[in-house]
Amino acid sequence: MLTDVSRPLPKRTPVNAPFWEHADRQILALPWCESCGKTHFPPSPRCPHCLHDAFDWRPASGRATLVSWVVFHRSYWDGVAADVPYNVCLVELDEGVRMLSNLVGAAEEAPRYKMPLKVTFTDRFPDLILPVFDAA
Ligand SMILES: [Zn+2]
Repeated sequence: MLTDVSRPLPKRTPVNAPFWEHADRQILALPWCESCGKTHFPPSPRCPHCLHDAFDWRPASGRATLVSWVVFHRSYWDGVAADVPYNVCLVELDEGVRMLSNLVGAAEEAPRYKMPLKVTFTDRFPDLILPVFDAA
């Protein structure tokens, strides 16, 4: 269990609050624009497609493909020292948006470009449920 607060973690804001409220219930949700019907990520106050400002938050499929990843062998924050080596990945959800996350399980052991992934959730941080990705 990592409790060191010297690790950078996501911050809840009024704009991204619905994302984290869904994550708290282990649901990966995306904002769908009520005007043009498209989604985007990360959450923003305006739709990047049409500038509308109202969104319907709906669960995503949870399916993704691995676009890229990096394994850190050095800790740049004291709070991650115990986790080295750790990975950071870029995934593309089936809904078409990309998201930074971490690989876990089989995906962490043997990542490969474009491998199918599925979302899962980790509660290893205080007051934060994080979506992470494992092999599908
Ligand atoms: Zn829109």
